[in-house]
Amino acid sequence: MSPFTMDSNLHQQLMTADQISNLLAKDRQYVWHPFTQMKDYEQRDHVLIQRAEGIFLYDAWGRKYYDTVSSWWCNVHGHGHPRIKEAIHKQLHAFDHIMFSGLTHAPGITLAERLVQLAPEGLHKVFYSDNGSTAVEVALKMSFQYWQQVGNTTKTKFIYLEGSYHGDTLGAVSVGGVEQYHALFKPLLFHGYKMPAPDLRAAGGHTLADEAIVAEQALAPVRELLQLEAEQIAGIIVEPMLMGAGGMIMTPAHYLTELRKLCSAHQIHLIADEVATGFGRTGTMFACEHAGISPDILCLSKGLTAGVMPLAATLCSDTIYAAFYDDYMTQKTFFHGHSFTGNPVACAVALASLEVFEEEAVLERIQLTIRALETALHGSGLAALPYVANIRQLGLVAAFDLYEDAQRKMPFPPEKRIGAAIYEAGFEEGLILRPLGDTIYYWLPHCATPEDVSDIVSRTLRVLNKVLG
Ligand SMILES: *Cc1c(COP(=O)(O)O)cnc(C)c1O
Repeated sequence: MSPFTMDSNLHQQLMTADQISNLLAKDRQYVWHPFTQMKDYEQRDHVLIQRAEGIFLYDAWGRKYYDTVSSWWCNVHGHGHPRIKEAIHKQLHAFDHIMFSGLTHAPGITLAERLVQLAPEGLHKVFYSDNGSTAVEVALKMSFQYWQQVGNTTKTKFIYLEGSYHGDTLGAVSVGGVEQYHALFKPLLFHGYKMPAPDLRAAGGHTLADEAIVAEQALAPVRELLQLEAEQIAGIIVEPMLMGAGGMIMTPAHYLTELRKLCSAHQIHLIADEVATGFGRTGTMFACEHAGISPDILCLSKGLTAGVMPLAATLCSDTIYAAFYDDYMTQKTFFHGHSFTGNPVACAVALASLEVFEEEAVLERIQLTIRALETALHGSGLAALPYVANIRQLGLVAAFDLYEDAQRKMPFPPEKRIGAAIYEAGFEEGLILRPLGDTIYYWLPHCATPEDVSDIVSRTLRVLNKVLG
């Protein structure tokens, strides 16, 4: 049963047309939106959202949209889940934000315990921050400082993958591999080693052997680098199984299992950035589970609070923690923290979300949705479209690429901005689709039903038809 009440117009007081246009004029006057060329909105308006429930967002005109990207990959149980709302109320009633240094609180403590229980084996300590980028900054600094403190002072560099995305702060950008976002900032960044990504689109087929070939091709230069330079390298950071912002690149489990072995053999930290993949999105609680491996450091955010409050956590092994644990005067403190570290309301929400995972058997329930997605992708005629290629799926995430000629993999000229046209046309079909370039994807919330999925895919076909004929 869906925990959501049926769509009631009770709490939707529509704005007047004047109120809406006033707000949108002020949006243009005062607001600078993220990842947005604001000039694109010179003549056009942002969609003004007034209400959200379950998988749907409603704009100020009362129009309804499927949130097919889970509000930037964050939302988990649907918008306005009653258990989440209740947790916020309860925690606010007790106390709001407090400092998390020298003070502590039950939601932060209990959440840390739950995360340690749920996370891949061996991750026993939880360091909180407030967004995915900071979770990554914490991981990088932790790894760096660890090697300094155990006397391996030459281990100062990080390996990262082509097409990887770990956030927009400068440390995270230094290990980022998306040229479009990252190239300009090169002069500000620290140097690392960029390695190829095991992009499954390059596989000859869908067998484990095909996947292993792709994995081994990407591993070869890593093996070579580690043979020569392991003494310079602190860690390698990866987005396990699914590289999101780089273009929904899906990668083989074999890559992770082999990387785990390499990291252990060469004394390199394996840092898993599960900011996007964590909390069931790929069908398992954490993407690392597909490969049965444990990283040395794990970064979590986005879905941690069911996508409702900003919160992040960086988990690490006892070995790492132990290198910082000493008498104060030895100067081994981890001097890092954020004003909103371990925000109690956010921690309470995260705990409630984990309870919902259990109460609603979410990980079991989503298997049906995942199968429905597979059926819809392959049974809807999508694959037959002459401009569609590389249909791929992992759990609740699916993607495909648009080409002018899919068979010859000939891209559309970038000035056509096909992705942007799809985004616009999506609104008319009641979809929030937010392509990455010409890659169209779904990043579905766990509350999506099999019926939602087939409806979303049919609507997408109409959008594609409208834009591309
Ligand atoms: C979104 C994302 C981040 C950054 O998280 P923010 O909360 O946006 O700073 C880091 N890593 C991955 C894999 C992400 O998808």
